Amino acid sequence: MATDPLVIIGSGLAGYTLAREWRKLDATTPLLIVTRDDGRYYSKPMLSSAYTSSKPPDAIALSDAAVMASQLNAGIRTRVTAEELDVAAGTVRVEGVVHAYSNVVLAVGADPIYVPVGGDAAERVMSVNDLADYANFRAAIAAARHVTIIGAGLIGCEFASDLLSGGIASAVIDPAAFPLSRLLPAEAGEALADAYAGLGVDWRFGRTVARVDHEGTRLRVTLSDGEAIVTDAVLSAIGLRPRTGLARAAGLDVNHGIVVNRQLRTSGDRAYALGDCAEVNGLALPYVAPIMQAARALAPTLAGRPTDVAYPPMPVLVKTSRFPVVVAPPRPGVTGNWSIERLDGGMRALYRTEDDRIEGFALLGSATAERQKLSRELPALLD
Ligand SMILES: Cc1cc2nc3c(=O)[nH]c(=O)nc-3n(C[C@H](O)[C@H](O)[C@H](O)COP(=O)(O)OP(=O)(O)OC[C@H]3O[C@@H](n4cnc5c(N)ncnc54)[C@H](O)[C@@H]3O)c2cc1C
Repeated sequence: MATDPLVIIGSGLAGYTLAREWRKLDATTPLLIVTRDDGRYYSKPMLSSAYTSSKPPDAIALSDAAVMASQLNAGIRTRVTAEELDVAAGTVRVEGVVHAYSNVVLAVGADPIYVPVGGDAAERVMSVNDLADYANFRAAIAAARHVTIIGAGLIGCEFASDLLSGGIASAVIDPAAFPLSRLLPAEAGEALADAYAGLGVDWRFGRTVARVDHEGTRLRVTLSDGEAIVTDAVLSAIGLRPRTGLARAAGLDVNHGIVVNRQLRTSGDRAYALGDCAEVNGLALPYVAPIMQAARALAPTLAGRPTDVAYPPMPVLVKTSRFPVVVAPPRPGVTGNWSIERLDGGMRALYRTEDDRIEGFALLGSATAERQKLSRELPALLD
């Protein structure tokens, strides 16, 4: 009897990295990858730095689905949606076709969060979370002089920096008092804001966007305090929410993300999850480094050698190229205090526990050179 395939749902970094790692261990079991997009392989972090490097959308894609299928010895179904997962039967329905699987892996990513805004041009608010979004965004800003960015988190700051390098001014709006407010202490956030204000980024903190209206060929963004900004495009970068619908409907445990243990197992038999959709042992970390760790652990588990994922310290580089930031936030629930040192051209912020262990850090500008040395002093996120 033929072996049922391993089915991977999603062709982002999580799906493809897992497929590569698993193929190193199992060259023969059939592999089916199903994806809603066109199956091109690309590095998503490039989307918020591609403007600086003059990369058009097509140049970001490294391989198309046919090349990936041949490299991975896989069947890849593109532009299809996995509609229903039946973990008791061991099947997934994709556009009406039911596929039996030996194991299934949810690598379905996360959706951009939208906060509804009023106005007659509200539908012009864009977000960038995949190659197709990026192509639309690039087309929308082809002749732009000014872009308004909603959200001063990692992605909003990176786009402001990237656009600036490409000669496009931006206003960045956020209800917090400084950028990267969920990652940085206030002094560090303010230092980043000052550095970019000096370069031309127009920060509007303590406010939200109320409306987006047409203003001739341009757009008018009205803030919650009534102030108006005339702009050419509006990018929403408020954050991402794990895609949990398929798992939830299948009766799998879902919290913020799809709940998995350290072997990336969901609460259902032969069903696993990794990447932006997953919450691993209580940690939802929507970054590349945790995906690499998870794929390297899940591959042997799927090949019959159950393996726990390890999360070493994984500082995140924020691609604000004129004043870079590297941040390793403290682990959830660990208390301590930030101590801040201003350096020539940078800042070092260390988060220390009461017994004086370094639990996290934020390094800005010249201090980012200390990244490796300080990373060695951090505890692992998962041993
Ligand atoms: C602009 C930007 C910049 C970033 N920069 C950095 C950075 O500098 N450093 C860093 O570490 N991280 C960064 N990140 C985060 C990082 O890119 C993500 O953590 C990672 O790419 C997520 O990969 P993924 O495979 O989990 O999800 P995705 O890439 O979103 O892939 C999900 C896949 O699932 C498919 N899918 C979804 N639902 C279904 C369904 N029902 N049926 C079939 N297919 C489905 C989609 O089509 C897609 O192929 C950035 C993110 C963004 C948006």
